[in-house]
Amino acid sequence: MSTELILILILVILSLDFILERILDILNRKNWTAKIPKALEGIYDEEKYAKSQSYEKDKHRIGFISSVLSFVATILMIVLGGFAWVDDLVRLYLSNPITLALGFFAVIMMGSSLISFPFSYYSTFVIEEKYGFNRSTLKTFLLDKLKGASISAILGGGLLSLIIWIYTMTTTNFWWMAWALIAFVMVFMSMFYSSLIVPLFNKQTRLEDGELNTAISTFADKVGFKLDNIYVMDGSKRSSKGNAYFSGLGSRKRIVLFDTLIDELSTEEIVAVLAHEIGHYKKKHTLTSIVLSLLQTGIMFYIFSLLIGNISLSEALGTTNHSFHLGLIAFGILYSPISTFLGLGMNVLSRKNEYEADAYAAEHYNSKSLIDGLKKLSVSSLSNLTPHPIYVFFYYSHPTLLQRINAMQGK
Ligand SMILES: [Zn+2]
Repeated sequence: MSTELILILILVILSLDFILERILDILNRKNWTAKIPKALEGIYDEEKYAKSQSYEKDKHRIGFISSVLSFVATILMIVLGGFAWVDDLVRLYLSNPITLALGFFAVIMMGSSLISFPFSYYSTFVIEEKYGFNRSTLKTFLLDKLKGASISAILGGGLLSLIIWIYTMTTTNFWWMAWALIAFVMVFMSMFYSSLIVPLFNKQTRLEDGELNTAISTFADKVGFKLDNIYVMDGSKRSSKGNAYFSGLGSRKRIVLFDTLIDELSTEEIVAVLAHEIGHYKKKHTLTSIVLSLLQTGIMFYIFSLLIGNISLSEALGTTNHSFHLGLIAFGILYSPISTFLGLGMNVLSRKNEYEADAYAAEHYNSKSLIDGLKKLSVSSLSNLTPHPIYVFFYYSHPTLLQRINAMQGK
């Protein structure tokens, strides 16, 4: 492919992606109404409903500004040769392909953090604050940013260095060796995420003995789910929104409840939510999604290995230097339609899995408690309960609350 063609493709892909995002947004906004829709009567009262609509609008406004800004910034970086300029700048000080790539991405990441920081700050301390969700202090917020950046620098930087090293050693075996490396890290992280990464951000303590612990253990025993790790996490440190999740594989598996969930839901409702999570495990959803992401990563590395040797990728971004990192950026954009497409497939599968986990909870525990629990969580977090179906198709990993209730009630 010629340099011009690649450049045109890159600009077309970025623009189409931006246009698609705007269309989906407009569709979704069509479903905003001032009056409470029939389907939501009994879930939202008038006042809460009005609040949920204005929360949606506030989030939408800031999301719109930030996505326009990042679209314009990316296009300008490409047409004005910004990436090439950063590459030249870093080349003044570094020459080894690994340190060069690390230096390059350090500059790019700092630039992009500078753009995204005000939005993140505004979302937390203005929007979330206004609706009473924010519990984060400025100190926690800044520390989170710092820790997040350090983790991506160490983990991302380490992986990138290893991948470039593999590439310089072997171009023919590159794709599967890089794939094996990423596969190892993905499996390792899914097993140790809760014990290695989460503690950097939150405190997790074992759930104390008592009514809730007994209820959960009794249910787990009944369905033959071996469970010795129930943890409570201080989610209230950042937000009043409740949550629960399941992590790890095999003997490393653990269930984590946010303290905010325990405050808000009754014992039966919490057990029902956990029954849903156990349903995911029993139906092997966790395992399937790891295997599928591994497959996708393999496909991506294979295509990447076919293209990365082509200097036109770097040239399209405005430089005559054949550089791995510029090739990586160009490839990332060229590959994005494929990853969007695969992502859609993953969302379809994930929504199907959610119905299955709900059905599992309904069969082995009871659907009423799950429905009540899900309602409470949706209402207290002011969820948008009437998103546009096409918007749901593209973005939602979970069916909407109404769809889930209908499915559980056999409608
Ligand atoms: Zn689920």
